[in-house]
Order: sequence, then structure tokens, then C-alpha cells
Amino acid sequence: MDIKGSVLMEKYELGRLLGQGTFAKVYYGRNMKTGHSVAIKVIDKEKVLRVGLINQIKREISIMRLVRHPNILELYEVMATKTKIYFALEYAKGGELFDKVSKGRLKEHIARRYFHQLITAVDFCHSRGVYHRDLKPENLLLDENDNLKVSDFGLSALAESKRQDGLLHTTCGTPAYVAPEVINRKGYDGDKVDVWSCGVILYVLLTGYLPFHDSNLMEMYRKIGKAEFKCPNWFPPDVRRLLTRMLEPNPSYRITIAKVKENPWFKKGNIVRKPNKELVLSTSSDGASASCSSEEKQEVMRFQNLNAFDIIALSPGFDLTALFEEPRQKKEMKISKREAGLLKLEAMTEGRKGILSIDAEIFELTHSFHMVEVKKCNGDTLEYHKVVNEGLRPGLQDIVWTWQPEAKPPPPPEQPQQPEKVGSLPPEQDQLP
Ligand code: AMP
Repeated sequence: MDIKGSVLMEKYELGRLLGQGTFAKVYYGRNMKTGHSVAIKVIDKEKVLRVGLINQIKREISIMRLVRHPNILELYEVMATKTKIYFALEYAKGGELFDKVSKGRLKEHIARRYFHQLITAVDFCHSRGVYHRDLKPENLLLDENDNLKVSDFGLSALAESKRQDGLLHTTCGTPAYVAPEVINRKGYDGDKVDVWSCGVILYVLLTGYLPFHDSNLMEMYRKIGKAEFKCPNWFPPDVRRLLTRMLEPNPSYRITIAKVKENPWFKKGNIVRKPNKELVLSTSSDGASASCSSEEKQEVMRFQNLNAFDIIALSPGFDLTALFEEPRQKKEMKISKREAGLLKLEAMTEGRKGILSIDAEIFELTHSFHMVEVKKCNGDTLEYHKVVNEGLRPGLQDIVWTWQPEAKPPPPPEQPQQPEKVGSLPPEQDQLP
């Protein structure tokens, strides 16, 4: 049945068919209130029930809600009628990455950019205990700015799906991209399997063809099992090394995502947003944004009274930066002062969701009693909590009068961040006096 032109739930106007999977059709949609483009995935309930895949759909929903990341396709909402389930998804205007690669290999820097975004997304998923298990160019979509969006979590597994041996057991994925241990059906680690698939994807992006291919499926499996592939002679040595480590048949020896990120070829195009002059932005009194260096800002800074953070920041022995230094490790955060009482903490290196940036605002309640409000402005929520809980709180213990026990766990990942006041008020607003 053609549903083009119809209106869904009085909210989305449906347009052309964008694509089709086994159980679903995906249509272009337009939010009639906001005008925003979406993709509406229409799943046939009966078909899904018939083959017992309803749990897979439920899992796809819960996983997509769990993993919100700039390089992961966002699920806006789920709707249902008697016969259909509808997903309103972020619209990926650029279509499938597969379409680009099927026209031929990509330029090295373009391939690297997509690979970066893929690794960033996968690393983020793994940090949340989610393994995709079906990574392939067809599941990698592109938005209007050519940014990669990982989609199709229908086969992904949560860490809880592991058996007692700690390994995943469902055979899934697409033959050309699956790791040898999945084919061997001996149980596998979801993270290792994703690393393998990312290796295959990188090879495909750089060459335009598969590393393991044979018209005979058994022969293809044999090649996969032995990691029998050839790198074209124009591959840079660092790419060869990286691919050999990612396409390592023994999962125990396979490279980790953390190590992939250290590979020189990977790092070559790594756009690390340094907390430099042009990135230090401040708001002038008329509300307009002005740019100045942190040094200049420190010059301009004038405190009426010294408060807890002033003491820490001004005294070398109490330098707040020390809170983020572990023995033999380099500085992890840069701290700059803004308007009176406001401090900006910025990570020196890129995290899972870009540079972690935290605003800490100090309020003088009485002469000897101060409250600090901490808020994440950018970056990954887990990394933020780590800094607050393992850096800020213990670092300030000596000067903190009393700690209130936390009444509530931290907010779920990737909810809009509430300012966190480390210390003594109601749960969402715990504060540091
Ligand atoms: P799926 O059932 O998720 O594999 O989707 C089937 C096809 O629909 C994909 O291969 C894409 O070509 C297309 N598609 C799915 N989701 C989107 C989206 N959010 N934006 C644009 N096209 C999509």
C-alpha cells in the first residue's frame, strides 16, 4: 500500500520511499508543526510477530534511546497502530555511504574522515555497553553535511545479553563483514566483533571492494577465518599496520578501539579542538559574543572578594589544575576565568563527544560560605561525571565543610544537562558549599 501523501498521527506528512529493509519501509516525513524533516520507518507488526522478532524491535528502541551521539542516528519517537509500528528518525539526507563506495574508492582523507566518525560512534556505544554487531556501509548513513550516522540497531546487543561465559552467542551480521569467531559460533566479544567490521569497512572505503570475497561462500569463510587479504601496494604503511591489527583472526590479539585511536594514520586527520585563543569566547555586557585569549581574560578578571575557587586558582599549592593531573600523566584540563566567579574547565584532548567543557560558577552566600554550581557545556556525560566525581569532589574535600549524601543517582546519559551543584541542596541541584 502506498502511504505517500498520508498524514501520520496528525503530525507527520509522509513523502517518498527512502529505502526498504526486510520488515520495514522507510519514508521521508515532515513534521507539520516544525517543518523539520524526519525519516519514518514503518514496521509491519504482524510480519515481525510471525517471525518472533518483536523483542528485537523493542531492543532497537531501547538501544537507540540509550545511545545519543552526533554520529548515531537519533530516534525521536515511536508510534504504533494496531498493525504497524512507526519510528520517527533523524533524516539522513545524504543516504547510504554504501552508494558512495559502490561508485569506487574514496580519497584517503575522505575515507579517514568517515572512519574517524565511525570509530567515535562505536567507541561511544561500547562505553555504554552496546555492541552493534552488524556494521557495514549499508548501515552507515550520511546527513546533509556529509556526517556519518550509524543506523540499524536491530541486531545490536547490550552487555546484558551475554551468557555466563561473558560472550555473545547469536550469529548475526553480514558474511563479508563478520569476524571469524562469529562464523565459528563459539561465542564472541561484541567489541572485538565491531572492531573487525570497522576494519573491513575501512578497507572497503579505501579500495572500493571487499577484503574477503569469493563466489563460494565456504571459500569466503575460509579466507575470513585466516584473515587472508591483500593490501594494494599504494596503501600507506600505517594503514597496512592498522588493518592487519584490526583484521586479526584471533580476537584476543585484535587491536582495541583505544589503540586504533593511537594509530598515526588515524591521528593524522584528527581535528583536535584545542582550547586556544579563538575558542575562548566570552559574553560582553551587551550580550554579544566576544573573543579573547584566556590570558587577556585573566588580566581583565577582577574579583571583589576572594572565594574558594580564587584561592585555589591563585595559590600555586592549591592550583585546581592539579586535580586533573595523575602522577606521570600530562595535564588533562585547562582552566580559564571568565566573569567574576565563573570558571571554564576545558579538556586538553578530545573526548567521546568532542572537547569536554565545564562551567563552574561560584556564589558567595556568606563571607565564609560559598556554593559552586557545575554544569556540562559540551562533551560526554560519563566523562563529565568522572571529572566531577573523581576530580572536583575529592580535590575540594579539604575545604568543604560537609557533604550531603546523594539522594538520587546521576541523570541518565545524554539527558539535557542540568547544572550540577556539588553539595547540599535537592538531588538535581546538589551543591558544593
Ligand atoms: P533499514 O530498514 O533501517 O535498514 O532502512 C532501509 C533503508 O532505508 C536504508 O538502507 C536507507 O537507505 C533508508 N533509510 C533508513 N533510515 C533512514 C534515514 N533515517 N534517513 C534516510 N534514509 C534512511
